[in-house]
Amino acid sequence: MQRFQILFRAFVRYFPRNFVSATLHSQGAITLNKPFLFSKISRRQPETRPVGIGYISTEIFLTSLGCRCQYSTNANEQNTQSKNIPTVDWKTLSFYSFHAFPNSFLHKTRELLLLKFGEMGIVGRIYIATEGINAQLSCPVEQLDELRKFCDQELKLENLEFNFSTIHVKAFRKLNVKIRNQIVSDGLEKGSYDLSNQPKHLSPEEWHTALSNAKTPIILIDMRNHYESEIGYFENSIRQDVDTFRDSIISMNKILEGKQNEDIYMYCTGGIRCSKAGAILLSNGFKSVYVLKGGITAYGRYITLNPSVTSLYKGRNFTFDKRLGEPITNDIVSQCHTCGEPCDTHTNCRNKTCNLLFIQCQECRKRLSRTCGSEFCLRLVKAWDEKFGRPSGFDDVKPGYQCVYDHVHRTRPKLVIERLGGASANVPSDLVEMLLEKNSNIKN
Ligand SMILES: [Zn+2]
Ligand SMILES: [Zn+2]
Repeated sequence: MQRFQILFRAFVRYFPRNFVSATLHSQGAITLNKPFLFSKISRRQPETRPVGIGYISTEIFLTSLGCRCQYSTNANEQNTQSKNIPTVDWKTLSFYSFHAFPNSFLHKTRELLLLKFGEMGIVGRIYIATEGINAQLSCPVEQLDELRKFCDQELKLENLEFNFSTIHVKAFRKLNVKIRNQIVSDGLEKGSYDLSNQPKHLSPEEWHTALSNAKTPIILIDMRNHYESEIGYFENSIRQDVDTFRDSIISMNKILEGKQNEDIYMYCTGGIRCSKAGAILLSNGFKSVYVLKGGITAYGRYITLNPSVTSLYKGRNFTFDKRLGEPITNDIVSQCHTCGEPCDTHTNCRNKTCNLLFIQCQECRKRLSRTCGSEFCLRLVKAWDEKFGRPSGFDDVKPGYQCVYDHVHRTRPKLVIERLGGASANVPSDLVEMLLEKNSNIKN
């Protein structure tokens, strides 16, 4: 029994949290040789789902351990189960540190993070590299002290700043810890700049005062990607038309050529990109570089806590989680990519084989079934819904095929769809048939 529990714990770490909690909360879930129900439960939209690869591999695994498995296909039953799941109050936060970790430390740290954060019920995305750690998390409120203690004592990162969002939800489905070459990929040669050469980090209040009191136009650079700054930005900032941080460094160097003696102000979402970009500038002869400490996230908190202050940032702050952004002000500075109406809500195309990141208004969402509107996605989703009988559902369709777009095209809807639902580029014409055929053994 103990062996089973250990295996079970190791196993559930790799499955979505909502599946795991449903399983853990089901009667007899951890008892050998007793039948139990397991099913994917969405609190938002409890309903029966097609059996996917996750369920099949779950069944094979549990059966090999001597469990008898059955699927729940009863929506009411699932609904009742989901009501039994205790509600959790979440805090959404991020932190980073350019504290150098030895290479030999990385795998051990990853295992430790998966184990301890798993126990605390924390979900999110963590990158670790020899240059440091970068984490975006949703943490149950009652585990915050534990999280702090873990960072202080186990990771030895005392005085780590937890950068809290203004909107607190469970922003991630599960916990992901990845070992990377760098926590922020810069594309530069190793040793070409000194990370300890840190720019001046201004608190949101100092930043607000500096920008407000500037007598002459200042050089203010947005260090985020094009789709992030599309929905919100500091007024008078230079927004770079780039897809990655690497590209933003190349672009930044061009923009700032010959400006080594001027004051440079830069900002990003949480501060990590500017920590690096600022160090790169200072290592290349720039004299004074100011960055917004804690990024737009911290500035958003400052504005929320000081309602009499007029925000210099307009619109939303894009976030790399389920929320795809949180509002800083009510200004809508962008448009729906399909109809052109004012809108700042990002979504991913419902067809995960497309997964296009784009801005879509409610009208277009309804009209196009939350797809990007391309012929490929509309046909696939329509056929999928007909097959699985989910005419009103806007849940993701996962046909199990890699994304048809590279990372550049995936975030540039104007390159791949025409207004009002044209044909998408580079999609094989028979792909819909192939995907439906591939999934033909899936039963509702
Ligand atoms: Zn629209
Ligand atoms: Zn699409």
